[in-house]
Amino acid sequence: MNQITDYLQKQFSAMVELTEEIINVDSPSNDIAGIQKVADILSAKMREIGMQTRQRDSGKQGMALIGELPGEEGLQPVILLGHMDTVFPKGTVEQRPFKLEKDRMTGPGIFDMKPGLVIGLFAIQALVKLKLNRRPVKMIVVSDEEKLHMDSNTYNIIAKECQGGAYGFNLEGTKDDPSHVGTHNRGGMIVDVTVHGRAAHSGAEPEKGRSAIIELAHQIIKLSALSDLQAGVHVNCGVINGGTSENIIPDRATTSLGVRFKTNQQRDQLLERIKSIAATPTVSDTTTTVKVRTKIDSMEDTPAVNKLFAELNQVAQQVGYGKLRAVGGGGASDAGIMVARNVPTIDALGVVGDDAHSEKEHASAKSLLTRSSLIANFIAQKG
Ligand SMILES: [Zn+2]
Repeated sequence: MNQITDYLQKQFSAMVELTEEIINVDSPSNDIAGIQKVADILSAKMREIGMQTRQRDSGKQGMALIGELPGEEGLQPVILLGHMDTVFPKGTVEQRPFKLEKDRMTGPGIFDMKPGLVIGLFAIQALVKLKLNRRPVKMIVVSDEEKLHMDSNTYNIIAKECQGGAYGFNLEGTKDDPSHVGTHNRGGMIVDVTVHGRAAHSGAEPEKGRSAIIELAHQIIKLSALSDLQAGVHVNCGVINGGTSENIIPDRATTSLGVRFKTNQQRDQLLERIKSIAATPTVSDTTTTVKVRTKIDSMEDTPAVNKLFAELNQVAQQVGYGKLRAVGGGGASDAGIMVARNVPTIDALGVVGDDAHSEKEHASAKSLLTRSSLIANFIAQKG
């Protein structure tokens, strides 16, 4: 057996213990105290391994934890990325704390994605203990992935911290099939389109009004027509708001668009089109503002990503993990932020499980070991 796998096998119960410890702290995206508790546990583990830690304020949604393992001078770091927030409200741990039955782990965030952090940390620990680390390793752990980094500067923190990375792994979970890892993902953004019209009494002097709702209605038809499912582009007018009373011509109406795209070039084109629709009103004397509330870059399977996948696949077969398959998903992933910064990244290297964001969420305990060993072996071999 491979020395890394052998070492990690002896650490298996410690891996499960650390998983239990962080699962049993409620940490929904907006719970700064809960997030801080998880960060404290992770920081202690990072320091124990020999990593330096620091925190970066990300605004209203808490902070990002950065752990750095020094390496040989001149070598670019490997980046490991993950998030410590879950979608479950405070009190969930009390109702259904961490449980392990045979190989099945359950508890809030057990698939999405707290154990991924344990996988990353123990991979680093194995490299350190076996003196196999040449390259520096940087771990970026964020606190509001489940909110798509809305109202925070987490996006910028990831973009800045991953800069100059040699390659990266995102530690989100893999759905059911252990051979699957992620090489591409659509990107997403939320765009608020707000029409400003002119209010007037609809009974007394309707001719003075300019209806923001009527203008928005025209725009919604045009915005929806930007969807091109075959090209992987979708524009969903998911929320509309406007008007105050039946007898007032509404002076304000807004729609929030959920936009998905396959490439970042499509995103830029879409944004141009949305702005051009906003700039050419049907109802005269109305104006429209367009605001991108949040965005996640698409994760494109660039030649560098495909090369990284091929190398990982080779190591996986060498160390007895088995053949890997590159898959993609429809959901936006933080891995896209790294790929867009020219850091080739493979996604979904965390635990193997299913039913994210639901009470049935579960993950395989054995995958803590196999995934951690795969990552450590890869870093050791690639050097
Ligand atoms: Zn996640």
